Amino acid sequence: MSDSPHATRLAEREARAIETCVTCPNLCRSSCPVAEVEAKETVSPHSLVTLAGLEKTGRLSLEAVSDAPYHCTHCGACTEACLHKNEVTLVLSLARQRLLTARQAPSAIREVRDSFAAAGNAYGRSLREPLAELAKKAGFEVDLASGTRSGSTLYLPGCAAIHEAPDVVVAWFEAILVRGFAEVTVSEASAACCGLPLLWAGDLDGFHDHAERFAERVAGASAVVAHDPACAHAMRHWYEVVGVPLAPEIQHLSELASARLGLTQAQPGEALDEAEAPLETRRTLAYLDACHLTRGLRLVRSPRRLVTRTAGVPRELPGGVGFEADCCGASGLLPSTEPKTAVAMGEAKLAAFRETGAEVLVTASPRCLAHLRKVDPSAEIVDIAHLIARFGA
Ligand code: SF4
Ligand code: SF4
Repeated sequence: MSDSPHATRLAEREARAIETCVTCPNLCRSSCPVAEVEAKETVSPHSLVTLAGLEKTGRLSLEAVSDAPYHCTHCGACTEACLHKNEVTLVLSLARQRLLTARQAPSAIREVRDSFAAAGNAYGRSLREPLAELAKKAGFEVDLASGTRSGSTLYLPGCAAIHEAPDVVVAWFEAILVRGFAEVTVSEASAACCGLPLLWAGDLDGFHDHAERFAERVAGASAVVAHDPACAHAMRHWYEVVGVPLAPEIQHLSELASARLGLTQAQPGEALDEAEAPLETRRTLAYLDACHLTRGLRLVRSPRRLVTRTAGVPRELPGGVGFEADCCGASGLLPSTEPKTAVAMGEAKLAAFRETGAEVLVTASPRCLAHLRKVDPSAEIVDIAHLIARFGA
């Protein structure tokens, strides 16, 4: 992709974004959770983009930029807050690409590329056998040797869910059986990774090539239902950014479940209806907005309606919800590049959860769930799939 006309267009978008940020008085500063947690101006979106611009135009060396572009979770909060909807994460991805090409990326980043070379995902281990085991555990029959069936609705758990939150995958298989979502199928492509960690690592060529191969594997499906909203966002947004067309419709599983349970899309500002909640709510819940679900896929109200329908009206976390919610630190490879920051962001999120007084935290992101469970193994955190499988009407 590096020498293609598409790369030229990306470079133009990058130049526009840099120009916009350097002439802006840092208006999105308070939206960045990394800058807030680290309490450093040098890692604000404005500073990161300005540094990237100075390096790109040769006024700063790559050594001087150092690890700056890795102080970002790809949470999209700066772009959300920006009047120009400036593409900060695109600029930082291209800055990471230059560091990777010059062999100056941190070792954790280089390992991501090596893991993809070994196994086609960021964990360096096959997803196929663990996925088969998880299906068996739920009593769900799969044939992972079969190709994608024409017109099928293909389930994509994602590598983070399979390796770090396997119980959520089991829960979704149970939900398919219990709720009768018979259209959802599993094929060999279900044990694939969408390639997003390559983008986060700055290996844009690798991401492009991986995306092309993935698009070919799922070409026959009419829809791909992703469990991890970061995967869904990658396929809806980042594939287009690197010029890879994808034939199937991309859905998050909460969209499929909402449609199948007869929940219409809630309108912005619409209150949750207590009457929709099941009569017997077992536990008090709080709901965690995941960045890729909200700012990425624009799903804020409908997952809440799903939680309400299955387990009761969730409590809201203090400190910003929906499009304004802070990131928990799980994405953008931050747990590998800046682990202390990622843990501090997770701790802040869990402190907000405890403030609600709820017993259980529910999220629709296996990646956030796995990260927060690592930060505090005693916290009770479930996925929306657990609720769909086990509770409610
Ligand atoms: S992302 Fe937008 S608000 Fe933030 S510094 Fe750049 S131009 Fe300003
Ligand atoms: S995407 Fe999120 S973490 Fe990255 S610079 Fe913007 S606000 Fe900060």
